[in-house]
Amino acid sequence: MRTKIAFVTERCTGCGGAPVCRVYCPCGALRLVDDIDHFPFKRMQVDPVLCTGCGSCVARGPNGSRIFGCPWDAIRLTAVQEAVGE
Ligand code: SF4
Ligand code: SF4
Repeated sequence: MRTKIAFVTERCTGCGGAPVCRVYCPCGALRLVDDIDHFPFKRMQVDPVLCTGCGSCVARGPNGSRIFGCPWDAIRLTAVQEAVGE
């Protein structure tokens, strides 16, 4: 059972329609959607069903180190909410 899930913060720029983060997700859980607050820009969204919480899309590693993932540090991991049906 997964214990964490990814979420996208307000730092997401949508990468001009060419999101870097998506290549790091092995589950196809990252989707580019319309940013309704900043039309016509877009932002990334995590599919909570597909995300396994693997952390491959997250740029922040242990002790604040930088690792691969979103170059804008816009994706974080959070404790999974059991309410999503697990
Ligand atoms: S999460 Fe990061 S890499 Fe992905 S679209 Fe947003 S800014 Fe770009
Ligand atoms: S934590 Fe893993 S499965 Fe979830 S969105 Fe990021 S790369 Fe994809």
